[in-house]
Amino acid sequence: MTHANLPSRLSWGRDRLKLMPTFDIDWAIAQIREAVNPYPKAAMFAIAQEGYNSLFEQLIACLISIRTYDEVSLPVARRLLQQANTPAAIAQLTPKQIESLIGESTYPEQKARQIHAIAEQIMAHHNGELPADLTTLLTFKGVGSKCAHLALGVACNLPFISVDIHVHRVTNRWGYVQTKTPEKTTLALEATLPLPYWIEINQLLVPFGKHICTGKQPHCATCPVESMCQKIGV
Ligand code: SF4
Repeated sequence: MTHANLPSRLSWGRDRLKLMPTFDIDWAIAQIREAVNPYPKAAMFAIAQEGYNSLFEQLIACLISIRTYDEVSLPVARRLLQQANTPAAIAQLTPKQIESLIGESTYPEQKARQIHAIAEQIMAHHNGELPADLTTLLTFKGVGSKCAHLALGVACNLPFISVDIHVHRVTNRWGYVQTKTPEKTTLALEATLPLPYWIEINQLLVPFGKHICTGKQPHCATCPVESMCQKIGV
């Protein structure tokens, strides 16, 4: 890295960070935006761009994506949402019909039951309209904070941080947070990350974690934030 590329607001930490500049998140985000440009968008952001951007559609697409590669979950979510993309339309399907539409995702039978139950609950208790409310979303079986935060962020532009395995791994390698679980990373980022990046951090670090800061053998030699990264655990 040349001197000209170094972050403008370097401040040097104390104790064990003596030789490491404090992590400049504004500078890092700008670098990563550019670095992930050639790669496919994270699944929920990609499907939102196709028009499936209601809170319900985002929640269902995220549920389908759990433990499923984006390459699989995207066409599967598309197939279901093309057939039925509202609580009323999904509630009209049987769990078996939903299962046959999402068959390639992981745990299709369980997810089909959960999707059907969510649609029925929205019809029964919320007049067919899913409210933009975290507590409500978390009452649905199969929906955890990762999906609830992502759906509220992408569909409603509400400030929530969605921490998946990539966001957890990368921010810990940076030394920006020091946590053992994605849940603790969420809390640590809520305390540290500037609000304007709360939704975008997932959008950026999913492709960054898939293609640059990969689980095994991350590409540190060509990484745009190498100069500030503590490479914890690498
Ligand atoms: S320098 Fe290496 S460990 Fe750090 S963010 Fe880049 S790829 Fe990941």
